[in-house]
Amino acid sequence: MALLAIGMCIALSSCKKAGISEKAKKEQAYSKDIFAMDTYMSLTAYGEHGEEAVKAAEEEIHHLDNIWSIVSKDGEVYNINKKGTGEISKDTKTVLEYAKRLNEETEGAFDVTIYPLMDLWGFTTQKYHVPTKEELRQAMARVGQEYMTIEDDTLTLGEQQQMDLGGIAKGYTSSRIMEIFKEHGVTSGMVSLGGNVQVLGTKVNGDKWNVGIRNPKGNDGELIGAVSVADRTVITSGGYERYFEEDGKTYHHIIDPFTGYPAENGLISVTIISKDGTLADGLSTALFVMGTKQATEYWKEHHEEFEAVFVTDESKVYVTEGLKDDFQSDYDIEIVRVN
Ligand code: AMP
Ligand code: MG
Repeated sequence: MALLAIGMCIALSSCKKAGISEKAKKEQAYSKDIFAMDTYMSLTAYGEHGEEAVKAAEEEIHHLDNIWSIVSKDGEVYNINKKGTGEISKDTKTVLEYAKRLNEETEGAFDVTIYPLMDLWGFTTQKYHVPTKEELRQAMARVGQEYMTIEDDTLTLGEQQQMDLGGIAKGYTSSRIMEIFKEHGVTSGMVSLGGNVQVLGTKVNGDKWNVGIRNPKGNDGELIGAVSVADRTVITSGGYERYFEEDGKTYHHIIDPFTGYPAENGLISVTIISKDGTLADGLSTALFVMGTKQATEYWKEHHEEFEAVFVTDESKVYVTEGLKDDFQSDYDIEIVRVN
């Protein structure tokens, strides 16, 4: 009897110990900040596999950065931009399939062959310049994603065309990171790629994550609101992210392929909330170009795929119906409904 009691005691205490350490293990966070894709990134994964998951994700980020950077000499985009054609990897093919769909569905507002215009305005070199009408005409003649073709694993650009995946690459990357986290047994984590956030699961305490959305007219860190999410990406496009000023006017980096100018269609920021990072990133750029009216219409037709927060140049905040219980803001908001 005495022996049994001691035996039980040992079993119980070791059980208790294991219980505590299991909880601690689950809650331990591994975080890392890195600089890639021209931006500061922060990765966090919870649980005992956090560290290995973050390290694997970091490798993948550098790999994708290398194949898509417009300046990496052994990258796919750099070489295809130079030669007009080349073999593409599975990752690039997937991203371009999204780009094709978005280009068609947004009637050209989203266009990865925007590179000649990005270059003309100086966004690729930081040698900023407001182009002349003639320069714009020439560059615009080289833009049009419909001339780009993919056959098997070979991509061919239209004549004199060049591509820029900057409007969609980070969203694909954040989705890939979530996959890598999962492959390593991580069930809770988050990444922020230059303000584009994607979260895996909930926080370890079971609560949703709170992701702040920047006030496009405020200072860095000032928010227009915050959204509570689990297993979602929250991606914002705004003119304030990259711009230059000349003669008192501001020119930003999201170009309207129809005018050749930085898009000015009433929106100063577009945030997309979706399960799909690649889609969300492409859409944030596309809907910014489309402007308030067309973007809301687009959401109505595709409301099953994403939710959105639109901030207009008159400081109005539109929030789509599905977010109404998950969006907190001190501003007056208007709910956009499907019907
Ligand atoms: P984002 O911050 O996701 O809106 O991406 C902005 C980036 O997308 C720019 O820096 C360009 O690399 C690229 N871009 C600009 N205009 C367009 C456009 N109309 N369609 C596709 N990509 C674009
Ligand atoms: Mg984008």
